[in-house]
Amino acid sequence: MIAAFVAGTVVALNAVAHQFQAGAAAAALPGSTASPSASVPASSTPSVPPSPSASAVPAAPPAPPVPPAFDKTAHSIDDPNSIWVVVNKQRPVADGANFVPPNLVDLPSDMPDPLGYMLRSDAADALHSMFAADKAEVGTQLIAQSGYRDYGVQVRAYQHYKDALGVAGADKTSARPGFSEHQTGLAMDIMDTSSGCDLETPCFGSAPSGVWLAANAYRFGFILRYPADKTAVTGYEYEPWHFRFVGVALATEMHNTGVETLEEFFGLPAAPDYAG
Ligand SMILES: [Zn+2]
Repeated sequence: MIAAFVAGTVVALNAVAHQFQAGAAAAALPGSTASPSASVPASSTPSVPPSPSASAVPAAPPAPPVPPAFDKTAHSIDDPNSIWVVVNKQRPVADGANFVPPNLVDLPSDMPDPLGYMLRSDAADALHSMFAADKAEVGTQLIAQSGYRDYGVQVRAYQHYKDALGVAGADKTSARPGFSEHQTGLAMDIMDTSSGCDLETPCFGSAPSGVWLAANAYRFGFILRYPADKTAVTGYEYEPWHFRFVGVALATEMHNTGVETLEEFFGLPAAPDYAG
């Protein structure tokens, strides 16, 4: 009886926590794609101080405007409600056992989504545009293969691999519960209908759609999260199908500066493996 009562109480408290978190998250994130031009740093002071003799000298032409530096603090990298959250083997989803992303939606019906995965609405809208652009520019049809996965799904998936392969084998195959970027609702594994590739080999990376996505995903606010040469940084083998929504501002800045991973862009430690 006591155990049943306690269990029931915990379930009820978890349900309350869920509601609170979802409500707070929705309130805290009115819009997610911040424009870098909206935040001009206060430090952009005039470079030439006024001189007492300046009045005797013809006025110099005004200096060309200096573009504002990209504000790396515009969104949190710790809050899992943030589109910039960085999740890796050293940075689990905060309160992962209870976290549910805000504004999860089904994908539009014109996007092949055989397993019915959801995404956050801002990521879903961007993915919809990206699928349409791929069709127009490459002529292929993309497939949404795997999107939001909740904590419970990850518990079962990891346990399945752990039973079959042991911890080392499971860690190569599946993220531990609470450590999957898919739990943020901002990641999608993408395939196409024509290449014959799958989620097991690098094949998609050299298929027309895979090549196009790697080069163009930033236009829609996505990054290729696990590049081929960044395993030591990300902790994951090359995954040419795994795209992460971070918003157009950050994806474009990373593209323009040639920085491929969130860890490097935000100056975070490499995360080749779990802490323990
Ligand atoms: Zn993935």
